[in-house]
Amino acid sequence: MSLVKLTSFDLSQEAYLLRSYLESNGIPSYIFDEHTVGMNLFYAQAIGGIRVMVNQNDLEKAKELLDSFLHATLRENDEVITCLACGSENMYYHLKTIRNHKLGILNMAMAFLFTVFPFYGTRHRCKDCGHEQKPT
Ligand SMILES: [Zn+2]
Repeated sequence: MSLVKLTSFDLSQEAYLLRSYLESNGIPSYIFDEHTVGMNLFYAQAIGGIRVMVNQNDLEKAKELLDSFLHATLRENDEVITCLACGSENMYYHLKTIRNHKLGILNMAMAFLFTVFPFYGTRHRCKDCGHEQKPT
């Protein structure tokens, strides 16, 4: 039983999400170089990122799961969310920034005065064209 590299990420959060997904489907996986990259993000370029490793025997099944992990569609109430601008199914949840919002300055001032986090709205954002739309 030897370990082989399945994929690598720049952020440990992504590696742990994939690891959880793999292990929930019965494939043990291991994360390498997390702490080295955590010390300095630029080390990710030098050493090839945070590696997700699996057993050689599980590699084919893990590749199939990796593909479904990377190309998952966004669903609500069992319906696939599609972009209203281009029709793509390549959507993700996104926090609407207050930078371009007309009440952004007021929102920032309220957050500063009352020492609370500013209010953000949740949006669906298209990976292909960047279009943002409100969830239904
Ligand atoms: Zn789009």
